[in-house]
Amino acid sequence: MKINRNNQRLTIQDALTLYQSNDLLQLGQRAHHRQLTHQGKNVYYCVNRHINYTNGCRMKCHFCGFSRDPDHPDSYIMPPETVADQAEKAWQNGASEVHIVGGINPGLPYDYYLNMLQKTRLKCPKLYIKAFTAAEIVDLSDKSGQSIKNTLENLQEAGLNGLPGGGAEILSDDFFERFCPNKARPNQWLNVHATAHALGMMTNATMLYGYQETPAERIEHLFTLRKLQDCSLQKGRGAFQSFVPLPYIPPTDTAGKTSPKKIDAISELKTIAISRLVLDNIPHIKAFWPMLGEKLAQIALCFGANDLDGTVQTYKIVDKKTDNPNDVLTEQQIREMILETNLTPVKRDALYHSLEPND
Ligand code: SF4
Repeated sequence: MKINRNNQRLTIQDALTLYQSNDLLQLGQRAHHRQLTHQGKNVYYCVNRHINYTNGCRMKCHFCGFSRDPDHPDSYIMPPETVADQAEKAWQNGASEVHIVGGINPGLPYDYYLNMLQKTRLKCPKLYIKAFTAAEIVDLSDKSGQSIKNTLENLQEAGLNGLPGGGAEILSDDFFERFCPNKARPNQWLNVHATAHALGMMTNATMLYGYQETPAERIEHLFTLRKLQDCSLQKGRGAFQSFVPLPYIPPTDTAGKTSPKKIDAISELKTIAISRLVLDNIPHIKAFWPMLGEKLAQIALCFGANDLDGTVQTYKIVDKKTDNPNDVLTEQQIREMILETNLTPVKRDALYHSLEPND
């Protein structure tokens, strides 16, 4: 796909120039046009449920408002049966996928994760189970004493279908060194996804932006993903199916620490539009409404995004007091958000097959 003025792929310099431009509407039009040309007017959503099985985590990432030290009184662990029950309830209410992630909790043995997947699979044979960030997969590989490949194979056997793409933050060693030094590093994140793709899994890729990285670091992140996706597509097994830019949302309770302010809406829209233009080999860009907010997510559909994620139901990762009071949108609300932009709502399964009654 050729998309810069010389009809070639965008270069890092092209993308930086776009970031520095103040012509937001022209950038949005380019991204929207690219989206319409390659994906048509379809905007996807799914009925899903997020499940956070533990908030206990030993990583202490500076930007995290979700985790608690595993010894903290507010730390929790869901029994595998509870995860399976919640997934079953979601399935009975029409969900096609669950999204299961948690902290890096040293109190949980490897068997806990296999058990959770097996129990969920037993209760819901056809539910798509998207689970574990690359940081969790690296932790599971450590816990099991097996390679990343063998660990992923074990998890697949227990019921895992795909990876949700978290833990990428900003794929820069320098960023990790500064803000999440304990966490699995960018090369480990890339290795987990490359291995999952080689095993035939479809995965997502995220980017946490608006913390303390520079626009140049955001751009580098996109080009790193584009390069891995080129390799995965060439091998012809699994690949990234969507990119999920996630704006940093400051927690209200910073316990005396200072926290960066929330990024401005202009930069959020620029990030989505530039993601659409740079990631010419990843089909879908998500406007993840629990973090963008419903109104900005709707506008993002005219700036290159073509997926609103889903009904979600429970989202503990951001602080609801600051930004998004809602955990849940109904299907009807999502469809209306899309129709108001003059685009076409398409209910999808986890692999982007249409579930519309007439398709
Ligand atoms: S971002 Fe993830 S790995 Fe880091 S502290 Fe929070 S839960 Fe733990």
